[in-house]
Amino acid sequence: RMSNQSRIANNSRSVEAFARAKKVIPGGVNSPVRAFKSVDLNPVYMERGEGSRVYDIDGNSYIDYVGSWGPLIMGHAHPEVIEAIKRTAEKGTSFGAPTELETLMAELVVERVPSVDIVRMVNSGTEATMSALRLARGYTKRSKILKFEGSYHGHADSLLIKAGSGVATLGLPDSPGVPEHVASHTITVPYNDLESVKLAFEKFGEEIACIIVEPIAGNMGVVPPLPGFLQGLREVTEKYGTVLIFDEVMTGFRVGYNCAQGLYGVTPDLTCFGKVIGGGLPVGAYGGKRELMEQIAPSGPIYQAGTLSGNPLAMAAGYTTLKLLTPEVYEGLERQAVRLQLGFEANARKHGVANTINRVGSMVCPFFTETFVINFETAKTSNIARFKAYFASMLDLGINIAPSQFEGMFVSAVHTDEDIDATIAVHDIAFGRL
Ligand code: PLP
Repeated sequence: RMSNQSRIANNSRSVEAFARAKKVIPGGVNSPVRAFKSVDLNPVYMERGEGSRVYDIDGNSYIDYVGSWGPLIMGHAHPEVIEAIKRTAEKGTSFGAPTELETLMAELVVERVPSVDIVRMVNSGTEATMSALRLARGYTKRSKILKFEGSYHGHADSLLIKAGSGVATLGLPDSPGVPEHVASHTITVPYNDLESVKLAFEKFGEEIACIIVEPIAGNMGVVPPLPGFLQGLREVTEKYGTVLIFDEVMTGFRVGYNCAQGLYGVTPDLTCFGKVIGGGLPVGAYGGKRELMEQIAPSGPIYQAGTLSGNPLAMAAGYTTLKLLTPEVYEGLERQAVRLQLGFEANARKHGVANTINRVGSMVCPFFTETFVINFETAKTSNIARFKAYFASMLDLGINIAPSQFEGMFVSAVHTDEDIDATIAVHDIAFGRL
């Protein structure tokens, strides 16, 4: 049962907890978006999660579509995942020596992702993309990289870059602390814009080590690749001897059994993983062509290491999660996500609210615009004031979504028909209030 009590009014413990945290943690949080700054609300402090639900420290419950920002595709505290973590923890949490579990995990990834011959485990998505960049640069002996506007690939210096002005110009630091000379090696072009990519390659092609791309952009809402876009990137990189990196930190094992590359039938040279691959523990990974990956130490000269990389707890959680993700699970995810989308679209029509929903598999994003959203520019046509009002109503009535227009909702395998119906009913109320 969904409670009608106002969750935003019943938040005194979360308010206290945040005030206390702000004294000892920058902005009160260990990752900026958690502070709820873009929605002008006090962040909700969570206490517990179970299946599709989360429970805050004031005793409110929510149907959750954040899923820890993607990892929890099997829901919160999945019994098999928790059991695997417990069983493993009893034998010790880390050895700094190889364990067989790491090989099991690598074999599973290699089996599921055809472009991956060989894979290295790291501790976050940021580490995965940072390491993949170093590998691409080391292998090609080139410095420049090309990324897309509105994409997020973690917070490594080379990737925290915004577009310069004009087409095919070099980038500018997106954060103080990123040196300009580092930013100047990053070329940023609009997503889904193959012409701009080609222009950039005409100008700098022989200097570009890699293209890094989210095969479905998930950090400007949800933006699928237009037909031919990923294929076009494959062609241009082949022509120039440039490494094609798919950042599947969000999409990997989320949108299908063989990830986004399986869905679109395009084969990258390197793939970055994170989120789902760790089953809720800190894990990232990068893998790909043997010829490239064997350049990594100790088989090759390009250095990358990690004290806790491939640690048993993370491997146990990740391995168990991937094993649970059968093709049938993806069919179920698709079905529930489609129901959610259709329900939302019906509500938008009923209330006359301009809303465009982008969806791939269990990644769903309602934009408050009538524009067809294909890149960051069009994503930004969304009415942010409306999003804020919508977010507040959803949260207040017990639906937990990401506190940003530029993030999708993640449907999990444990969202039931009742959860989806309840969510559509709350959405109806929220849209009625707009
Ligand atoms: N790449 C993509 C596509 C992401 O969505 C994220 C995180 O949201 C990252 C990389 C960075 O991963 P992490 O937060 O684990 O460092």
